[in-house]
Amino acid sequence: MHNFPNSTDTNPELPAHLAPLLQEIECLRKENADLRIALSNTAEHGDLIEAELYETNCKLKAEIAVRVRAESTLNTLLEMLTRQKSDLEIIVQTLMEHGDLLDTQWYEKLHEVVLQAGIDSLTQIPNRRRFDDYFERQWQQMRQERLPLSIIMCDIDAFKSYNDTYGHLAGDACLKQIAEAFCKCLQHPSDLAARYGGEEFIALLPQTDLDKAVIVAQRMQQIIRDLQIPHRSSPVAQTVTVSMGVACTIPDPTLSMSHLLQQADVRLYAAKRQGKDRIVSTTIV
Ligand code: GH3
Ligand code: MG
Ligand code: MG
Repeated sequence: MHNFPNSTDTNPELPAHLAPLLQEIECLRKENADLRIALSNTAEHGDLIEAELYETNCKLKAEIAVRVRAESTLNTLLEMLTRQKSDLEIIVQTLMEHGDLLDTQWYEKLHEVVLQAGIDSLTQIPNRRRFDDYFERQWQQMRQERLPLSIIMCDIDAFKSYNDTYGHLAGDACLKQIAEAFCKCLQHPSDLAARYGGEEFIALLPQTDLDKAVIVAQRMQQIIRDLQIPHRSSPVAQTVTVSMGVACTIPDPTLSMSHLLQQADVRLYAAKRQGKDRIVSTTIV
């Protein structure tokens, strides 16, 4: 280590032109001292700095790993979106090319579903919902045209004891046969027969007066008798029989649909009370 003379020292022997040189030497000496302090600090705190560097390094490595993972996730997502986009393009293309055909198929499917919603699943004849819709429309139409509208309500006699005697499955089979026979007797395209619930059936006959409706009911009763379905526990006959109530009216604003239905029901129960296996009818004026 060189020891330079201190510039503050007054050296009268030194020529004046060397004064700047002395100042520079003085600066260098200070810098040297600073460097020595820094060096000793570095030596003293080396372990600490090394630990900090190690920690920073670890953090950087962890950060890099997170970013690598994120990038790979983004790549997977991008691939998935690309696949979905090309699937959608295929669907759009197919729709453009075969749209009409698909429309027709969907329409047919919808039509089938709508039809099924109005069909009784056991007997495969119209159900009560379909009957109610149709009744509403025919009521309005007959009211406008001032034409008679008739209803036939039919209930199987002693059907509970039929089930008890022959079993529920035989009961179901019997219901199917009766439903088929009941529908068979309707001849006009605007007539509608339906399963009204349980072992009850109903028929709506637009443009039909009471006499004609009773003739239809008699035909139903006969055709059901002709089925000759054995019913040994019936209090009425050896075979399955039905009771019916028939009601007719020309709809007008003072009457309600439910009144006509109720009148048919009242006649049906009158038939039951009078001994079953018969038809009771009424005209509402
Ligand atoms: P009534 O002569 O007074 O009409 O007597 P009923 O025994 O026919 O009438 P009730 O109302 O006492 O019994 C009706 C029976 O109809 C009871 C029920 O188990 C049966 N039933 C209703 N729906 C079905 C069905 O889907 N399948 C079968 N097997 N039986 C049914
Ligand atoms: Mg009943
Ligand atoms: Mg019954």
